[in-house]
Parts: sequence; structure tokens; C-alpha cells
Amino acid sequence: MPKESTMTEPIWNEIDDRLKAEIAARNPPKATVARARSIADILAQEFPEADCALDYTTPWELLMATILSAQCTDVRVNMVTPELRRKYKTLRDYAEAPEGELEKDIYSTGFYNNKAKAIRETARIILEKFSGEVPREMEGLLQLRGAARKTANVVRMHVFRLPGIAVDTHYGRITQRLGLTDETDPEKIEFDTAALLPPERWTQFADAVILHGRKTCAARSPKCEECALAQLCPSAGKVVTEPTAKKSKKG
Ligand code: SF4
Repeated sequence: MPKESTMTEPIWNEIDDRLKAEIAARNPPKATVARARSIADILAQEFPEADCALDYTTPWELLMATILSAQCTDVRVNMVTPELRRKYKTLRDYAEAPEGELEKDIYSTGFYNNKAKAIRETARIILEKFSGEVPREMEGLLQLRGAARKTANVVRMHVFRLPGIAVDTHYGRITQRLGLTDETDPEKIEFDTAALLPPERWTQFADAVILHGRKTCAARSPKCEECALAQLCPSAGKVVTEPTAKKSKKG
């Protein structure tokens, strides 16, 4: 995607170097670019208010909620975070949470040992390396334990209102079905689809795709007959398989 034709300079400056390089290395067919933009238009009409489904009041809370959301529903995470907010007031409270205590508090989100470890270490790194502030740059966010590009993008998109695409299983499955990527690796899916749209549209598109997955294009039985994207979807009426997108180990 040529930089000059689609990106304004201030937004381009907010994008991490790796993503810029990956976009520059791709040269998607014009027909695919046009189709992606038509799909984005339809989804923007259908889900104009698409946004993050996790509840949070601070950047740290969204980062922590995103760590908790791995292999767990947003609804479940939202049931756990109010009690965490009541019990742990500061980053240091999380960093120094007694062994076993935090695990117990997040037990219902699953994988609680790994998640508690990630939360403690992430809180400690933010305190020690980032003066207690969640970083906004991709490079800084990727230094946090438990944060791969998906988590980093969630924080950048919703806390800092920067362009981003957070690839979860819904996003991977649907962009594959729509023929916008052939990849199964979440990072490659992010790069492929970022190359199809101007960055100003990434966040809205990514959030809307996830809502479309929940409402219409489910993993097991997509409702192609009532899908607003059917005319633009090469998989319409043909889906018979489970999702193929791999989940990132680090989220
Ligand atoms: S037509 Fe079917 S497979 Fe394609 S996006 Fe819609 S629901 Fe999903």
C-alpha cells in the first residue's frame, strides 16, 4: 500500500517500524483492496459504535483485563475486574500481591497461575521501566510480560486511540473467510489486513469484525443467508470447518 495515498503523516508517525515495513512489503491486488474497503463500509454501517468490550477505568486496567481475557470471555473478565479494582488500588499492590492471593482472585478466568504471574511482572516492569505509566509505543508495550501485538494493539487502540488491529480468533477466522488473508499466524493476519485499509479505519474495522463474528459469522455455523457481507465473501454458503487462526501464546 503506497504510504502517500492512504496515510496522513501524524498517524503514520504513530505506527511502529515493524508494521510500517510489513505494509511496505505487501502489494495486495487492487480488487482485494477495493473489496476490503467495501466490507469495512458495510461493517461501519452495521456496527457504528463498535468498541472494546472489556470494562476499564485506567490504561492499566485495560492492559490487565486483556491479559485476563486470553482463553476467556470478555463477559467473564468483566465479572472479575470490579473486585480486583476494589482490592488492589495501585500498581504496586499488583506487583507485590502475595503468592496465591491474586491467583485466587482471578481463578474463574482460567490459566490463573500464568495470568497472575504475567500481571505481577507486568506491573513491576511498568513501575521500574516506565515510571508507573503504561507505555503507548508498541515497542514499549512489547517489553511487558504477557503482551504480544494483540494485547499491545488493544491498549493502543482503546486507551490511546491510535490506529491498530487486534487479532483474536474472531478476527482471524472472519478475515480468512472473507479472503482478506491466507495466513493463520495472528501477526501476519494483522499485517495483511493493515495493508488493505488506511490506518484511520483499522480500529473501527477490527472492532466491527469481532462483533460481526459474534453476531453472524460464528465459528461453527455462520449465518451466511442473513450476512450483509455475503456478496463480497468468497466463503458464503461454503463454510464447513472450525476456525483455523492460531491463538498467540502471549496474547
Ligand atoms: S457470508 Fe458467511 S462466511 Fe462470509 S462473512 Fe458472512 S457469515 Fe461469514
